[in-house]
Amino acid sequence: MERTDVPGFEEARRIILESVAKLDAERVDLLGSLGRVLAEDVIAPWNLPRFTNSAMDGYAVRAEDCNAGRALPVIDSVAAGGRSARAVEAGTAIKIMTGAPVPDGCDSVLPFENAEETENTVRALDSIRLGQHIRPMGEDVREGETILAAGRLVRPYEINMLACCGRENVAVVRRPRVAILATGDELVELGEFPGPAKIVNSNAYSLAAAVKQLGAVPVMVGIARDNLASHREKLKQGLEADVLVTSAGVSVGEHDLVREVLEEMGVKIVFWRVRVKPGKAMAFGMKDGRPVFALPGNPVSSMLTFEEFVAPALLKMMGHFEMVKALFPAVLQSDLRKKKGQTALVRVKLECTNGRYLAWSAGRQDTGLVRTMMDANGVAVLPADRETFAAGEEVQVHLLGTTAF
Ligand code: AMP
Ligand code: MG
Repeated sequence: MERTDVPGFEEARRIILESVAKLDAERVDLLGSLGRVLAEDVIAPWNLPRFTNSAMDGYAVRAEDCNAGRALPVIDSVAAGGRSARAVEAGTAIKIMTGAPVPDGCDSVLPFENAEETENTVRALDSIRLGQHIRPMGEDVREGETILAAGRLVRPYEINMLACCGRENVAVVRRPRVAILATGDELVELGEFPGPAKIVNSNAYSLAAAVKQLGAVPVMVGIARDNLASHREKLKQGLEADVLVTSAGVSVGEHDLVREVLEEMGVKIVFWRVRVKPGKAMAFGMKDGRPVFALPGNPVSSMLTFEEFVAPALLKMMGHFEMVKALFPAVLQSDLRKKKGQTALVRVKLECTNGRYLAWSAGRQDTGLVRTMMDANGVAVLPADRETFAAGEEVQVHLLGTTAF
């Protein structure tokens, strides 16, 4: 690929999002649908409210009788879950609790707080409005209407509505299985002591955690050693999942074999560099409709490229409508400098003061420094065409974190 073919930050993300597609559906129980995207239209099986009921504790009355200032004999009492056998006849009242069905003949509810009770009668202290404190049947949802359409994200609010409709299970878009493969002779597995020149394979864990937080399913493939046989074996395994994410071995080092072996295995490499820092050495390919992301090895680079490029793809596969984090302005609190020709992703601390976001650098930006990543809660996306940014100017930022809703 020629230098001029190297995509910019937004372009690379556009290419990725155009390449991946929504997965098929599966049926899950109600709570299992949290954070997932509906794959079916949900039709209301009944009206909501199911029956006309009282919105207050008080008396079921006829407004006209109340407003005449009369003391009304209380002829019955009805609690939530019950039903009165009597009707509110002219000049009478029935005691009623919130949620109880309003008796026949009742057109309004007089709340306790506006009522004067004697032994067996009740009188309104103020005039009342016809229809007050009554929740009509079907005012929220009409039986037979499509109350939730396919494509809707299920949050606790949608869970409430689904439960209102009696849905014990629902069809949602399947979660992708995401294979995670680390590469490198320097890596030891968690639990092993890292001897001389060795480090713990930490990227696999942060990537798996981010996959999990998004609602997808991480599949740990382990470590490919820096030789062809090991790469072939592990990449083959990884390509069995819906998505393959690798870390390291994708730049121009002597032992960087990922791209070569992926191509040998039939992965079509769509691009293998991006004009963004961190993330310059990142490859994206496709095989049989399945995306492959070869991320850089430096921990911060792998975590940030995951957030910027892999997370949107996984969200699209899971049927989400919003895939890319919203950018908003923040006022820089220190000068920043970057290289021209590439987008810079700067880890920042964001704080909202008097309705404006302020952004501080979260620390040294070297991609090996995990501490700065921990200390940050946002990323400033500095455009490719500029070099210097002065304290006091507004830059575009987004929040860090991969939760789907
Ligand atoms: P590479 O792309 O293979 O040249 O690796 C770049 C840097 O990332 C090196 O310092 C590696 O030691 C480091 N690195 C590679 N893989 C991992 C990993 N799984 N966990 C943490 N650091 C890694
Ligand atoms: Mg390596």
